[in-house]
Amino acid sequence: MKVLFAASEGYPFAKTGGLGDVIGSLPAELKKKGLDVRVIMPKYDQIPQEFKSKMKSVAEFSIRLNRVVRYCRIESMSYNGMVYYFIDNEYYFKQSSYYGYSDEVEKFIYFSKAILDSLREINYCPDIIHCHDWHTALIPFLIKRKYSDTFYGKIKTVLTIHNLKYQGILSKDFLNGLIELENGSSEIEFNGYANLLKGGISSADLVTTVSPTYAREIQNENLGEGLEPVLRANHQKIRGILNGIDYNLYNPETDKSLYSKYTNSYSEKIKNKIEFQNKFGLTEGADIPMIAVISRLTEQKGIDLIKEQIDNILCFDLQLVVLGVGERRYEEFFADSALRYPGKLCTFIKFDESLSRQIYGATDMVLMPSKFEPCGLTQMIAMRYGAVPIVRATGGLKDSVISFEKSEKGTGFNFNHYDGEEMKETILKAIKVYSQKDKWMLLFHNAIDTDLSWSRSVTEYIKEYEEIFNC
Ligand code: ADP
Repeated sequence: MKVLFAASEGYPFAKTGGLGDVIGSLPAELKKKGLDVRVIMPKYDQIPQEFKSKMKSVAEFSIRLNRVVRYCRIESMSYNGMVYYFIDNEYYFKQSSYYGYSDEVEKFIYFSKAILDSLREINYCPDIIHCHDWHTALIPFLIKRKYSDTFYGKIKTVLTIHNLKYQGILSKDFLNGLIELENGSSEIEFNGYANLLKGGISSADLVTTVSPTYAREIQNENLGEGLEPVLRANHQKIRGILNGIDYNLYNPETDKSLYSKYTNSYSEKIKNKIEFQNKFGLTEGADIPMIAVISRLTEQKGIDLIKEQIDNILCFDLQLVVLGVGERRYEEFFADSALRYPGKLCTFIKFDESLSRQIYGATDMVLMPSKFEPCGLTQMIAMRYGAVPIVRATGGLKDSVISFEKSEKGTGFNFNHYDGEEMKETILKAIKVYSQKDKWMLLFHNAIDTDLSWSRSVTEYIKEYEEIFNC
């Protein structure tokens, strides 16, 4: 089975969050099981030169976006034994950040169309195109509506929703100006606008989300982001498959970013904490509980709860480490708070992969009080490094963290309501367990020994691929 992953980011070429992690690991896991998997993504200017220098041009052509013609070059390289394609167009992909420009929706419409046109140019016809989030959600719609000739006609499509909040909404006229909508293209229309994610949900052969709980949650008004009627109408083709993490990449035994590498030895892990405390001006103390927040600083991640409770948390004998970028109001809040709590609060406003691993290695706990969480990989990476997650029980957090309060097999702490008091009380419970070393050791081993690899989920994806491939 030939599967093409189409996505806006993928580690190690480009990553801003969990989507990058998934595209950097799931294709390789599927390939290990014998599938012919390839990946296609934008050739961003920010891709490290060591990769760019290995890319070879395989096709060059023009793309007609109805009223304009845009240049497109396909470059290719092999990485870890897998073929990667990169869509090169400096007008769209030479911007100083991956997302956030005013032409973002147009950029990914171009990207989606470029992907389909490039397949004919390079004469590669996958059995399945696996699309991810709104950025490539136009592809299933285009295949159904506009690319139904013999070359494209048999291609099946899968759309994975990593985050329903972002949908790719634009006016119908604007979309029409780019891809020329036919009459009756109602699949892509929603509330008077064109909605790329809705078009993908309606047109794809299979829709997946990144955890079973999120698959259920988004069919209700609360977390459906307005699309719950569409999701309910398509419920028979929606599956929730929990993400895994890359066990080679996230491995405290081999991680070069760590001061002291470790397997599942607590005493070795602690050396990282002491080193971190000294390096970044926190009070030294092996027994001072350290809690980390490694996160996009957005409303979704529950940053408001941390803001509300920071003084009620930091009045206890503990340390907080924050690594994140995002909304300016949150960045400023953490930067200012660090000045108020020298030796206790350490803030890094940046995206730094290596630093994130140093923090996973050093910290005792990771806090994720998310308002909603499609899957969340941070809690999984944390467990892999023996850092116990404190999470709000929503989406993938609910599916991946077992409450230690409720079971001796527990791997972390969870709270139910989106409420600052409840979060604080849960942190205090965690701190209490931390002070009872025998209990903490049990919890530490439960967390670090949890299987968070892709093995189970890869089998589920293959089963689902086979089902649509054979029908
Ligand atoms: P989301 O995709 O919603 O941002 P996830 O928990 O699924 O959240 O994935 C976040 C990923 O991004 C993890 O690999 C996490 O370690 C990483 N990450 C988040 N913020 C930063 C940062 N500031 N620097 C480095 N890595 C980060």
